[in-house]
Amino acid sequence: MSRVYNFSAGPSMLPESVLEKASSEMMEYETSGQSVMEMSHRSKVFDKIAKDTEALFREVYNVPDNYKVLFLQGGASLQFAAIPLNLLNGSKKADYAISGQFSNKAYKEAVKYGDIKVIASTKDDNFKCVPNFSKEDIRPDADYAYICLNNTIYGTKFPYIPETGDVPLVADISSCMLSEPLDISKFGLVYGGAQKNVAPAGLTIVVVREDLIGKADEMIPSVMDYKNMADNDSMYNTPPCYNIYMCKLVLEWIKNEIGGLEKMKERNEKKAAILYDFLDSSKLFTAVADKESRSLMNVTFVTGSDELNAKFVEEATKAGFVNLKGHRSVGGMRASIYNAMPIEGVEKLVEFMKKFEAENI
Ligand SMILES: *Cc1c(COP(=O)(O)O)cnc(C)c1O
Repeated sequence: MSRVYNFSAGPSMLPESVLEKASSEMMEYETSGQSVMEMSHRSKVFDKIAKDTEALFREVYNVPDNYKVLFLQGGASLQFAAIPLNLLNGSKKADYAISGQFSNKAYKEAVKYGDIKVIASTKDDNFKCVPNFSKEDIRPDADYAYICLNNTIYGTKFPYIPETGDVPLVADISSCMLSEPLDISKFGLVYGGAQKNVAPAGLTIVVVREDLIGKADEMIPSVMDYKNMADNDSMYNTPPCYNIYMCKLVLEWIKNEIGGLEKMKERNEKKAAILYDFLDSSKLFTAVADKESRSLMNVTFVTGSDELNAKFVEEATKAGFVNLKGHRSVGGMRASIYNAMPIEGVEKLVEFMKKFEAENI
């Protein structure tokens, strides 16, 4: 067996010890006589998996008691609609900051349901930084304000949590979920697809303040209604059972092997520094994102030419560093170095980049 270093933006690497544990339990989970994939979601044994997963998520992410944690399907993209459908229940106004493609998609979806305003955008800067806005830019009667905390495609991240006063802040945290501690009490709602940092594709996690739910229009589809999902412990219908189990294994890995999110953050900062320090000193490669907005998870970079970019991606792939091609809308390169990427993977990538630089400059 030969495993590559996978720099995919998602679905992405999972920790090897998690894959090994899942593999060892594939034919029989504990003494259940079956795989988790085969279990009824109403069974006692799965019920314990689901409850343990939620408890562990709350513990590891330090989720305040007045927040619901929902395990849903439909990806982050379904939430682009579910968020306005659930939360536009007062003035039907919401204010969006546009920091890239995913916030723009979320905005376009929300426009279908209410009076949605763009309060800031870094489109004119090709999204190489996150937009600045202040509390005063937000309409005081808005039902919520919206940001994408880490911008997967552009490799940027808000270096702070924007201040929104009494207006609940909603954040897409798909590509930075569980990568470092987060003060969830500063948000009305955070959510993300799990396939970047948390589990295989198919699970979406929503963390929402209790007082914000239960006011959706009756027309809302039942599976999108946070109140309905919360009242049914995310089991109004069949949840993504196996992904929830995988999420549990990843949480156990963060807690027991890494030592929690402070340690996870240190490790992620170390990995990102190895790559950014090299990019800042390189004569061939340059980082794309502005220094103040740099993501710890997605590192975007370029050489001076499209030909060299393509050559780099091709040679890197041959050397076992895969999925380094930038998003089709941006070009260049992107190394996604999520939680599961070992430090060694980043060190070896930088060694390879140094060699490539020496041969091509
Ligand atoms: C990947 C991603 C999405 C889209 O997620 P899906 O699960 O494919 O819908 C949305 N937002 C961000 C920040 C992402 O990284």
